[in-house]
Order: sequence, then structure tokens, then C-alpha cells
Amino acid sequence: MAVGKHWQILVLLGDGIGAEIMPHVLRVLDIVSISDASFDIITHDFGGRSIDLHGTPLTEDTLDQATKSDAVLLGAVGGPQWDDLPMEKKPEKALLSLRSELDCFANLRPALSFSPLIEASTLKPEVVAELDVLIVRELTGGIYFGTPRGVELRNNLRRGFNTLVYDETEIERIAKVAFELARKRRRRVCSVDKANVLEVTQLWRDVVIEVHRSFKDVELTHMYVDNAAMQLVRWPKQFDVILTGNMFGDILSDTAAMLTGSIGMLPSASINANGQGIYEPVHGSAPDIAGKNVANPLATILSIAMMFRYSLDQPLLADSIEYAVEAVLAQGLRTADIMPPNPSNELHLVGTNEMVDSVISSLVGTDT
Ligand code: NAD
Repeated sequence: MAVGKHWQILVLLGDGIGAEIMPHVLRVLDIVSISDASFDIITHDFGGRSIDLHGTPLTEDTLDQATKSDAVLLGAVGGPQWDDLPMEKKPEKALLSLRSELDCFANLRPALSFSPLIEASTLKPEVVAELDVLIVRELTGGIYFGTPRGVELRNNLRRGFNTLVYDETEIERIAKVAFELARKRRRRVCSVDKANVLEVTQLWRDVVIEVHRSFKDVELTHMYVDNAAMQLVRWPKQFDVILTGNMFGDILSDTAAMLTGSIGMLPSASINANGQGIYEPVHGSAPDIAGKNVANPLATILSIAMMFRYSLDQPLLADSIEYAVEAVLAQGLRTADIMPPNPSNELHLVGTNEMVDSVISSLVGTDT
């Protein structure tokens, strides 16, 4: 239970289902504030809505507020009405700028299976039951940011090129995050690279081994990325924390996401060296279902749980939110995305608002 804590949270509603879900979900914070934790919740426009109102997807004022906040809670951005804007002006640019301005170099993506939803996975129940894997992905370096990059004409042929580059400080800081998180879990880190082919990932492996000298209580193993992709779908429960670079992490975290069923269930965090973080569902703004009260709000609720765990150091509050989610699923409540095609009588289709209300009722019934 949190006693006398006070936090400043910046809420960025965003667009589509992001803006639809977030106002309901914020009531979770009202419930936990009963337990003597209080929040300054400051809401700013972001993404497409910010373009419409302020001419830019991320204003200086919003960025300034983000740097002063303990955590940023983000809905989702984007929509067809902004698709034709130049790349620099699109809603999605706001996400990349925010992550890079806050130097959120560590992306945490849990793959957690909720037992009532095991049937929603495409894998066999025994493969995914009680799955709890955390992917720690380097987010601000690697091939997505390396230079030189581009497409050029050489000998009359178009030639595209990108640069996969990491310096040792970038590897060191993400490795420390992974080892520290492993200490709060099952104390195992598997570092994923391609050290048999790429020199930069041989450096990755060397630096991870050096950092590990300060974390001898954590078991370290290494795996090539091709094998890791295979092992994730063969027997994912062999992993506790997976540590990897930007591009490999991008691919492996989406693979891991599918182990657990729907995109509507997946939270994520991007944190910096000060513990500040951006917490957001993995899904986008889903314009196809926005405004219809059908979107699954659980990924956003679980993102709040991650905020308590990783930025506000309140693991018990995080646990209680996750238990509340598990409880409503166990009661048989399902939004459309997690409803099986031929549901049993025990399952009940609910909308966004009813799902949030049920999680809150369940939370009120537990000691937060
Ligand atoms: P999306 O994640 O928005 O939707 C993909 C599919 O999943 C859709 O069929 C949607 O209805 C469904 N879905 C997503 N979230 C759901 C939820 N909570 N409950 C039920 N169903 C859900 O991806 P997209 O359609 O490729 O992109 C739509 C827009 O979102 C684009 O503008 C894209 O750029 C943007 N986007 C933003 C983010 C972000 O803000 N982090 C991430 C991905 C995409």
C-alpha cells in the first residue's frame, strides 16, 4: 500500500481509441488515490489532435511538461485524416520525438498470459500457460538510427543502405536495465544477438558479459536471434528476461505478443536512466473501431500497472491492477477482440466502458 506518495503524471490522450479509452481508464488512478497516494494529472493534446489544434503533433509545452513528469501515460496516435502529411508532420512523429527527447532507451514489453485467455493464443495451452517473459529492447540506437543511410544511384543501379551501429555505452546501459529487472523477477537474462555474423553484435555480447560481472546473482545466457525466434514459439517459458537490440527486439516482441492472444491485451513501457517512463498500449488508434465502445481497454489498464511497477516503484499496486484484470477475465467478461468464435455460456460480451467498470469494481474489492 502506498502511503503519502505524490506523483505528476502527464496524460496524452492521442487519437482514435487512445482518446476514447484513456478518460475511462484514468478512474483507476482515483481508486488507488484512496490509499493515500495522490496524483497531479495533467492532460495535453498529442498526435493528430495536436496537429489540428496547434499545428504540430508535439508542442514545446507538451515536451516541457513530459520532462517534468514522473511518468507519461499515452493512448495511441494516428488516423487516415493525417496519413497524407509529410513524414515530419505525421502524428507518429510525435511518438518518436517524445521517446528520443526523454532519452527513453529501454523498451519493456511483457508477454504475460492470463489463464482465462489461454484459448485465445494460436499456440497449444501447455506452451503458453503461466507464461511470463519480459523483452528488454534497446530503443534509441541500432540500425533504425545509424548513419549513413539512404538510397543512392551507383553505376546506374539504385542501392539502399543502413548502418547497424552501437557504441559500448549504449549496450552497457541497456544491459544494466535488463539485469536489474531480472533481479526483481526470476534472475535469468538471455541476451540475443547475431555474433556469428555481425561484428557489432559480437561487441554487444562482449559488453553484456562485462556488465554481467556486477550481476553475478543473475544467470546470463546468449542466443542467436534466429534461434531465439524459433525458441519463442517452441517453448517460450524457457525465458525470463530477453535482452536485445532495437531491430531484433522489434521483431521478437511482436512474435512474443502473439503468444498471449490479442493486441488489445498488450502494455509497454519505454524508460530512461532516471526511471521516467512513457507507458502505452502496444496497439494503435484503431480507426476502424474508434468511437464504438468496442475497443479492449485492458492494454491501457495494464500500462498503468507497468507505470506503478517501473516508474513509481509500487509493485504491489501493479500486482493489484493485474489481479483485477485477471479477475474480470475469470468472471467471463470479454471484449469482442478476445471473444472466441463459438463462446460458451460462461462468456459475456462487454463494451469498453463496462470492461473498465468491472476492473475498477474488482480493484475496489481488493486492498490497494
Ligand atoms: P492498430 O493497432 O490501430 O489496429 C490493428 C487492428 O487491431 C485493427 O483491426 C484494430 O481494430 C485492432 N485493435 C487494435 N487495438 C485494439 C483494441 N484495444 N481492442 C480491440 N481491437 C483492437 O494498427 P493499425 O490499424 O495498423 O494502425 C492504425 C493507426 O494507428 C495508424 O495511423 C498507425 O500509424 C497508428 N499506430 C499508432 C501506434 C501508437 O500510437 N503507438 C502504434 C501502431 C499504429
